[in-house]
Amino acid sequence: MLTNRSKLVPKREMTLSEKLYLPAIIGGMGITLKHFFRKASTVSYPEQIRPMAPVYRGKHVLKRDDNGAERCTACGMCAVACPAEAITMTSAERKKGEEHLYREEKYAVTYEINMLRCIFCGLCEDACPKEAIFLTDEIVPSFYTRNDFIYGKDKLVESMDNRVDVTKRQTEEVKEFKTHANYQHNRLTEE
Ligand code: SF4
Ligand code: SF4
Repeated sequence: MLTNRSKLVPKREMTLSEKLYLPAIIGGMGITLKHFFRKASTVSYPEQIRPMAPVYRGKHVLKRDDNGAERCTACGMCAVACPAEAITMTSAERKKGEEHLYREEKYAVTYEINMLRCIFCGLCEDACPKEAIFLTDEIVPSFYTRNDFIYGKDKLVESMDNRVDVTKRQTEEVKEFKTHANYQHNRLTEE
């Protein structure tokens, strides 16, 4: 009654057919029957998979360069950009002789994404100056324990035998933006 917009509705007596419920049940079954002959709007996942949008944002991949070296330089820009605080990492300096493993002088010893926190916004991908992290169209599966949702380097870094194609996420606009971000990153680390 606070707003005076409510009004009392008198309770109507049910008619005989309403009291029998049968017409309502038959009507309901008619609707069910009608849907038997319509095209199903559901799919039998995982046997059937819906077509994904070309830029669907799913599980992340940490890329290697063409020589197989990890591109990530553990700068932490992705972690800072992440609104869900889902990314953590530890870094180390590359030693002599490890150039074939890590492209940059600093690399991620550990790199973890908590997929339960992640909202798949793609900001980590946007923030990365080294084109090291991308979101793929792979769906993160379900697990029974929380720990299984913590994806470490073992699950994130791509294998050279099965490289992940991210070209559809590398539009000219994105490349231009990344070149600028990379320049800024190098400039800041040199200072
Ligand atoms: S996609 Fe978004 S929420 Fe997920 S790790 Fe990247 S920045 Fe964080
Ligand atoms: S922003 Fe890119 S290079 Fe920097 S830590 Fe994240 S993935 Fe690695």
